[in-house]
Amino acid sequence: MTPESSSKPIVTRFAPSPTGFMHIGGVRTALFAYLLARKNKGTFILRIEDTDKEREVAGSVKHIQDSLSWLGIEWDFGPDKPGPFGSCIQSERLSIYKKYALELVAKGLAYPDPYTAEELAAFRAEADMAKRPFLYRNHRPSDELMKAPWDGTKPLRLKTPTIARSHWHDVVRGDLQAGEEAQDDFIIMKSDGYPTYNFAHIIDDHEMGVTHILRGEEFISSTPKYLSLYEALGLMPPIFATLPPILRDDKTKKLGKRDGAKDILEYKAEGYLPEAMLNILALIGWNPGTEQEVFTMTELKSVFDVAKVQKSGGVFNEEKLGWFNREHIAKMSDQELLIRLESFLDSAQKSLVDERTLPLIKEKIVTLGDAPKLFDGEGELSFVKALSDYPASQLLWKKNPDKEITKKHIAEIHSQLNSISTDLFTAEGIKNAVWPYVEANGKGDVLWPFRVAVTGKEKSPDPFVSSYILGKDESLKRLSVALEKLNTPSQ
Ligand code: GLU
Repeated sequence: MTPESSSKPIVTRFAPSPTGFMHIGGVRTALFAYLLARKNKGTFILRIEDTDKEREVAGSVKHIQDSLSWLGIEWDFGPDKPGPFGSCIQSERLSIYKKYALELVAKGLAYPDPYTAEELAAFRAEADMAKRPFLYRNHRPSDELMKAPWDGTKPLRLKTPTIARSHWHDVVRGDLQAGEEAQDDFIIMKSDGYPTYNFAHIIDDHEMGVTHILRGEEFISSTPKYLSLYEALGLMPPIFATLPPILRDDKTKKLGKRDGAKDILEYKAEGYLPEAMLNILALIGWNPGTEQEVFTMTELKSVFDVAKVQKSGGVFNEEKLGWFNREHIAKMSDQELLIRLESFLDSAQKSLVDERTLPLIKEKIVTLGDAPKLFDGEGELSFVKALSDYPASQLLWKKNPDKEITKKHIAEIHSQLNSISTDLFTAEGIKNAVWPYVEANGKGDVLWPFRVAVTGKEKSPDPFVSSYILGKDESLKRLSVALEKLNTPSQ
């Protein structure tokens, strides 16, 4: 039976700790959990795991929500939407953890840790000296001490119910196992009244009806401990799916902050589309088994299959992200692109973006943030704003730098453009009108001066597109300027 065919409605969760900004690793986990839920008409929960108050960074919860919202990953229950099980913020669920902790105490399966930090350090040092792993359960206090009442001032530890080899199944990694040394009497409640991650997530997953846990490989080594806790609580563990790591370009290491695993919202600020980000992340460690590479969220929701998640890591790099960005920009309507560009352009630039410039913008940009650069300095569309003061010599085609012939061509183009009616003054209309003359007189001979005359640039879009963008009046004006320049004797 595949996990997706199990009869229970699928419930997945993304459970970040609010310890800083969201990076692509976290978002990929959220996306896969979300897609698994949506594919199966299940529920997706955003749970905030804020039980480690020392590591908490202010603003992280909002950042997590903003990042997921940007990508269209919508939670059914989350920090702003409590569920039938109560709050989705762990610090607001303390009484629930306490209730479970007390049940374990009552069953003799949890006990207050009587040791001081110094005593524990000494046990650790002893194990190090003997070159064996430190196991707390080798130092269990006497039965008497174990039965001491728990007043919350001491950490509470699980008394591992069965110490034996652990075996479990992972949808991605297959059958896994670990020796007895992977189990220990770990802390479930801290002396500050908060549960540990190890304890709280298990209680919450149970209370929230989570059927599938998708998370990174850093949790595999602790799974035997989690299994002891499920056993102590008399719970069936959910289905585990360990996602493969996201690798650096050279595939040798996991992508770390120093390799550019940056704040996900920085990509937004740079003008990457959420569609592109989703697309690249969906394909890191998963593929549908077809040739298709470009996916929309709607498509992903219908084709995602957790059984096809791979074991080996996948590479993330910005070049690939740029490729996806261009693909999604190309699919976008002009109207939609215009809306997306809004926040990247100032008002002067906005006035230059219309149905005439949009196709070119679409073709040239990698990110939305590239669009304003097209209008500035040497940008491909900088000619639209104003005609630069280029030297007359620039009008002469290098292979035939004859001033008189160049003047003749420009004058002829001027007159031909002048006779095109305004409604036919499109790139195609202009090309159709002048093409016979171009063919008869040589492409370079005519098109070079034509293009330099309308754009004033060595490099620019072709003269038909450029004239169309400028409009008839401005194009004629610029052709006249070119003629004047050629008629002015050089000093
Ligand atoms: N709070 C954990 C973290 O942010 C989540 C792990 C999990 O998904 O169970 O690393």
